[in-house]
Amino acid sequence: DSVGFAIVGLGGYALNQMMPRFSQAARAHVAAIVSGNPDKLRQVGDAYGVPPESRYSYENFAKIASDRRVDAVYIVLPSGLHADWTERAFAAGKHVLCEKPMALSSAECERMIAAGRRANRKLMIAYRSHFEPNNMQAMELMAQNAVGQLRLLRTEQSYRMGPTSPSENWRVNRALAGGGPLEDYGIYGLQAALYLAREMPESISATGFRPAGDPRFAEILAHVSSQLRFPSGAVAQLVTSYDSAGGNIVQARGTTGSLIMDPATGYSGNRMVLETGRDRREFGPAESTVQFARQLDHFADAIRDGTQIKTPGEMGLRDLRLIEAIYASAETGRTVMLNPDGTRKS
Ligand code: NAD
Repeated sequence: DSVGFAIVGLGGYALNQMMPRFSQAARAHVAAIVSGNPDKLRQVGDAYGVPPESRYSYENFAKIASDRRVDAVYIVLPSGLHADWTERAFAAGKHVLCEKPMALSSAECERMIAAGRRANRKLMIAYRSHFEPNNMQAMELMAQNAVGQLRLLRTEQSYRMGPTSPSENWRVNRALAGGGPLEDYGIYGLQAALYLAREMPESISATGFRPAGDPRFAEILAHVSSQLRFPSGAVAQLVTSYDSAGGNIVQARGTTGSLIMDPATGYSGNRMVLETGRDRREFGPAESTVQFARQLDHFADAIRDGTQIKTPGEMGLRDLRLIEAIYASAETGRTVMLNPDGTRKS
């Protein structure tokens, strides 16, 4: 009863990270591939044993509706294409696993959720940290108040992007990437802040920066720095950058201890330390690589057994609302007040 996935978009993440992990999943397999490149369709199709009739182009994708081998579509396209392709997959009667960020606006996320409901099909966002051992352990530790009452959260997701421009690289193209590193990389810090704080922020203030005359940042911000205030009194500082030496760090400090994750959400080799008084507990480098197969099996379980999805479309929508609040604050220089569902207070 393994679930057959059609992989849409044969780019770096699909080819180098996700597709090789299907062999470790108990209940998921690559059943079809979708690409605009006939050479890739042939090479990747042969490598994964995908029969020629289950290799699709973007143009003939609709034919997938009658492909009984395909239960679910996994969307691994540039982020600005997620909404349209999710709708096309639902229109073909398939379940959808969609890469992060879910889309580039809350309006797109709402469209995607509505399309899934109409089709009576499931929608999951590929937030792999929810399946990564250290991050799962961190969620549990915070639920048990392992650092006492949470006071300060700090997250940093950054790297320095090489020379490029919006026509060469979708990640710096506003229509395909959104406003900058926040949707692509900073979203891991936003996610971590929320699953460690275990509450929604009541207000957000933020600033963004774009250096003049740099083709990498002709359309997007180079860094975004945000501050979230939670009803409990905890605060989170999130920074993300495409123009600084790299870091992927999450820190949670409470009244009695600290949880330090560095690297926090990588593909492999994540490390975590819990410090309480003189006590020091080290975790990892975790078996981080199990996160990919676990994520696939989690969606397969939801499809086959109706189990609850930990990272549904509603979570992706919530995050896009917060990202919109961050950009709104960065643009106006004002603090944005939020409702518990992440929408703005008028
Ligand atoms: P990539 O540039 O390596 O691949 C993108 C693919 O989309 C390419 O094969 C490209 O040919 C194809 N494509 C189709 N239409 C396109 C268009 N109009 N413009 C540009 N490319 C087009 O990117 P990637 O790193 O594989 O990212 C793909 C998605 O996966 C993104 O949504 C990204 O956020 C997500 N991602 C997730 C993780 C994670 O850890 N979960 C890591 C990397 C990327």
